[in-house]
Amino acid sequence: MRSPINIVDVDRTETWSHYKAGMCDTCMANCCTMPLEIRLPDLVRLELVDPFEAEHEDARQIAKRLVKAGVIERFHHKSGVFTVMRRADGDCRFLDAKTRRCTVYDKRPNTCRKHPQVGPRPGYCPHGRRDDARAPLR
Ligand code: SF4
Repeated sequence: MRSPINIVDVDRTETWSHYKAGMCDTCMANCCTMPLEIRLPDLVRLELVDPFEAEHEDARQIAKRLVKAGVIERFHHKSGVFTVMRRADGDCRFLDAKTRRCTVYDKRPNTCRKHPQVGPRPGYCPHGRRDDARAPLR
């Protein structure tokens, strides 16, 4: 019997792996290539929006400024969700392209903090082994 080909496709959750602690150590950060949806408190924590502005300014005006600055792609007023603009190659704008590590880890949005417990397939992630990863999965 042929063994199944284990190629992850970020857009197809059926190809994702069951998440286990330590997997991130060997991963190329595929989760950081998925669309990133965040909220106003995340933008404040990321220091992209001033707390005073967040409290007093209309979210649509804030979104307008951030779209113009190329920080967000769009804003959904009804849900209050901002979609962060990604790089041309699909990476999150906060991902270090070389190390594949988050450059804003301590200030990262809630969506990232909750992954993979909350997300398209809870408990699973699009783990993709880094070329330089030697350590076996724990
Ligand atoms: S903010 Fe950091 S953890 Fe979240 S998607 Fe971007 S690089 Fe990944």
